Amino acid sequence: MLNLQDVTTHYGTSQALFGMSLSLEAGQVATLLGRNGMGKTTTINTIMGIVPASGGSIKFEGQELVGQASFKTANLGLGLVPEGRQIFPNLSLMENLIATASNHLGVADPWTVEKVFALFPELETRTSSMGNLLSGGEQQMLAIGRALMTNPKLLILDEATEGLAPLVRQKIWHALTEIAGQGMSILVVDKNLKDLLRIADRHFVIQRGQVVWSGDSTALESDATVRERYLGF
Ligand code: ATP
Repeated sequence: MLNLQDVTTHYGTSQALFGMSLSLEAGQVATLLGRNGMGKTTTINTIMGIVPASGGSIKFEGQELVGQASFKTANLGLGLVPEGRQIFPNLSLMENLIATASNHLGVADPWTVEKVFALFPELETRTSSMGNLLSGGEQQMLAIGRALMTNPKLLILDEATEGLAPLVRQKIWHALTEIAGQGMSILVVDKNLKDLLRIADRHFVIQRGQVVWSGDSTALESDATVRERYLGF
């Protein structure tokens, strides 16, 4: 579904990705793991076209994304839950949900606000609250709901549960497990390895803008050297 080959990305003269290669099959849940500053967010933003790739190839269902405007990439079915949630502060929860909703790909059974509320019942009682008055957990659920309302084929989450209370984190993981169970492909960055090991089919460990290890949860769990060397635990 998604295939990155030798992708390089620069911020001005400073290089952040040094030949990033990874692939994700349809229906898989994959993670990007690595210490701070190793290039996880840059990888996601390069896939989405928010930061331009300076070299290499990124194909989504065979279509080249490098050089394409990010709104076009989004319209191909890539839904982003960005780092920091980026909820529109001066729109209500309901407005946030529907402002960018679409069904570009003509999905037969598209996401609706009712489906989002079934996934996150907490949101239903807050529909008229402004984005900036929502709690961190509500904002994260809303950011996921907003992305789902674009009916993506691939959901990309950057720091899915950062800064959230354990109970709220569990709700997010529960929802992601449910969505994954429905066949959604997911690429996720998070620091909570325990939850990721449970939900993900494949992990990509990133070190200085390159994938240095990939494998499934069993392999990662049993490889203490990789975890200590690249992840710090
Ligand atoms: P974190 O977990 O801290 O978010 P990360 O793995 O997502 O880290 P990136 O944010 O992608 O890492 O950063 C990769 C490298 O690119 C770092 O060296 C960082 O300093 C640099 N970088 C990131 N954003 C910019 C920017 N806007 N301008 C210049 N350099 C940047």
